[in-house]
Amino acid sequence: MNNSMNIFQLFGIKVKIHITFILLPLLVGLGVYLTEGPLNAVRAIIFILFIFTCVTFHEFSHSLVAQHFKIKVKSIILLPIGGVATMEKMPEKPREEFLMAIAGPLFNIALAIILFYPIYVLFGRNLSQMNPANSNFDTWKATILYMYWVNPILAIFNMLPAFPMDGGRALRAFLASRIGISKATRIAVSIGHTFAVIFGLFGLISGHILLILIAFFIYIAASQEEKMLNLKLILGHYSAKDILSKEYVTISPETTITKVLELSLKTSQQDFPVLAINKVVGILTRQNLISAIHQNGKEKAVKEFMSHKYLSVKMNEHLTGLYNKMAANNLKTALVFHRDILKGVISLEDIARVYNLETKA
Ligand SMILES: [Zn+2]
Repeated sequence: MNNSMNIFQLFGIKVKIHITFILLPLLVGLGVYLTEGPLNAVRAIIFILFIFTCVTFHEFSHSLVAQHFKIKVKSIILLPIGGVATMEKMPEKPREEFLMAIAGPLFNIALAIILFYPIYVLFGRNLSQMNPANSNFDTWKATILYMYWVNPILAIFNMLPAFPMDGGRALRAFLASRIGISKATRIAVSIGHTFAVIFGLFGLISGHILLILIAFFIYIAASQEEKMLNLKLILGHYSAKDILSKEYVTISPETTITKVLELSLKTSQQDFPVLAINKVVGILTRQNLISAIHQNGKEKAVKEFMSHKYLSVKMNEHLTGLYNKMAANNLKTALVFHRDILKGVISLEDIARVYNLETKA
């Protein structure tokens, strides 16, 4: 995601912070400063930073379980509505998804239990004093009480079965092991949508903008999860050999950019495999072509602008895996090989065509 800054790296995972999340402590600090004075503002900012820390640990708990199941975690991004861990893929097995989902809230519960005793002692072993209603930024003690309640609230909120939040993911995984992933996802998505509508209405009535944002996020994310699953199920029926196109134009490293421009007007092909003595040596993508024109390279040879890295797949590669690889590397074309010989090309449009045909059939 753009508009985010790296803050540190741990266990090979980059922790990034979204620009809007930097505004949050500043805005809250300013608001408290204007109404309650400077010392309260300092306490409010410390409180927000503590929430950051707990959310980061929460995301690390998910990520470490993911790494345990050999799933690569690229980064954790902190947004004003919570953290998001970006992973290369989601776990396939329901048991793995379940464990990964509950790891985050479990961390918050563990921290709440560990911190309970010292706080209990601090408040004179008086449970009624630990009521969250007694928390404010007027004293350090009242601020600590605010901080104490962060973890139980994070745990409860995330465990609501509002798919794709953690509780919803755990529920989906639990159902999937019994009724299959399709039905389980459909049920989890409708529960997610219901929660989103309830959150949204509640946010509108109470005037909580953050809650409205969360409702919006849950609604969209739940729908997206359903779409992604459909895509996966449909593409799972096909492999590269079923859809590869055998009619494609290849060029040589010595071909001029002008010649490729002519070719690209005649065909709908976006990317051109570059062959030297029948061996693939690279690919000239639409992006390469555009940058060649920008650099006044029309008369120059393809070899000066082509990409040496290209996505090569085997004939029996499943389209689900192929699509994931293309999406993860932001590539529009894959080259299909059989025993080192180029057999055809597959573009993102080819995959989209299969999906559209199947969903409309
Ligand atoms: Zn979580």
